[in-house]
Amino acid sequence: MAPITIISRYVAVIGAGAAGLVAARELRREGHAVVVFEKENQVGGTWVYTDEVDSDPLGFDPNRVAVHSSLYSSLRTNLPRESMGFIDYPFVTRSDGSGDPRRFPGHQEVLMYLKEFARVFEVEEMVRFEVEVVKVCLVENNRWKVSSKKTSDGDIIVEEVFDAVVVCNGGRNCQPHVADIPGIDVWPGKQMHSHNYRIPEPFRDQVVVLVGNSFSAADISRDMAGVVKEVHVASKFNEDGTYEKQPGYDNMWLHSMIESAHEDGTVVFRNGRVVLVDVILHCTGYNYRFPFLETNGVVTVDDNRVGPLYKHVFPPALAPWISFVGITWKTLPFSGYELQSKWIAGVLSGRIMLPSQQEMMEDVKAFYSKLEASGKPKRYTHNIKDYQCEYNNWLAAQCGGPGFAEWRDRMMYATTKNRNLRPETYRDEWEDEHLISEAQEEFINYTS
Ligand code: FAD
Repeated sequence: MAPITIISRYVAVIGAGAAGLVAARELRREGHAVVVFEKENQVGGTWVYTDEVDSDPLGFDPNRVAVHSSLYSSLRTNLPRESMGFIDYPFVTRSDGSGDPRRFPGHQEVLMYLKEFARVFEVEEMVRFEVEVVKVCLVENNRWKVSSKKTSDGDIIVEEVFDAVVVCNGGRNCQPHVADIPGIDVWPGKQMHSHNYRIPEPFRDQVVVLVGNSFSAADISRDMAGVVKEVHVASKFNEDGTYEKQPGYDNMWLHSMIESAHEDGTVVFRNGRVVLVDVILHCTGYNYRFPFLETNGVVTVDDNRVGPLYKHVFPPALAPWISFVGITWKTLPFSGYELQSKWIAGVLSGRIMLPSQQEMMEDVKAFYSKLEASGKPKRYTHNIKDYQCEYNNWLAAQCGGPGFAEWRDRMMYATTKNRNLRPETYRDEWEDEHLISEAQEEFINYTS
């Protein structure tokens, strides 16, 4: 067999969060020349905590002064560090005892880990800091023009042509999604999105309703409970009659969804309860957003489906010249990003072959039909919870590397189970020691 010729491409990576860092590393390992554009002055993306918040607390105004990170001050990871890290650079505790050694550490520890990753793999030298990409559009021969500007002197636009672009802008967590509440327009209270929640103190002695049923609602309700007068958590996933005082709290209740909000400041829940409320805090997730991307309608965001994307990464009509890392959710982010990045790097160099455009498109259509037949809403297109192991193993096989260790998947499920069993203490008490041992056995390959 003739040896494969590895082709080096000139590749732009947008963003230096976890996805952009590992994409840049994999692209360079494959022999590509890489420029990473990062609008902030440091790597880490989401994990760079800031006290600042958006100028529009709900995130509606497209011209708002927006901050990138959604972290609240008290945030600890919702995944154990063993399963959270990159595959070949485990997120282990520091041997000198510094940092936060907890299994579910605070956010500062994750940022330190990502910074170390960037240093160890010399990623920072590829990054143009404080440079925001404002436009990415197709030019001749399937190449991409990337227009960018320094965040400090916003008027000068620099244009540069690349062979390929890898989008790692954290587009999944950029645009707050808020709940639709009948009567909200006349309700006089304050509304905000969890993206703009930092600390509980501003809510002292207030009555707060949190809408949502995922990590932020669970964490923020507990963070607030010691300071606010009352906290009410409402979710569309709770049955209509739900009304439960939360064990261990004398001022926190779980409700069914909000039925309506009223001019007199009251909020009516579907369980019939009426509460006079100061603040509604939407912990309702995000919509995808790629404000710089111009693909002439080839890639669209429709009801939170980014598509069409072959295996959540390549738009068939533009593959492999534009790709996305980090679109998938309800998964282990960092290790998944690593495999997506390896795949992209190998495809761009010609070492890994993609199916034809038509075959990729058929695969996407078959995937959409399957989702529809199973009754999954379009919004859930990139939720890979039920097949993350299969998906990651498929990526690993494409890359010709070892499979995705099953303990990672099992640890994620063990954590979910533990969280349901011990919502207050799951970060400090667990029963999956056997999985930690398996993880540590694997880590020896990378840490010794
Ligand atoms: P980001 O980290 O958002 O990075 C994107 C980068 O792109 C940013 O640095 C941004 O400045 C830059 N950028 C964006 N647009 C441009 C542009 N136009 N030009 C130049 N640069 C640009 N995951 C876990 O594994 N464990 C957890 O416990 C966990 N908790 C989370 C809690 C919250 C509140 C949120 C929001 C997410 C959490 N996640 C968690 C998921 C988290 O999003 C991922 O872990 C991961 O950090 C996302 O990485 P990313 O690189 O895709 O995006």
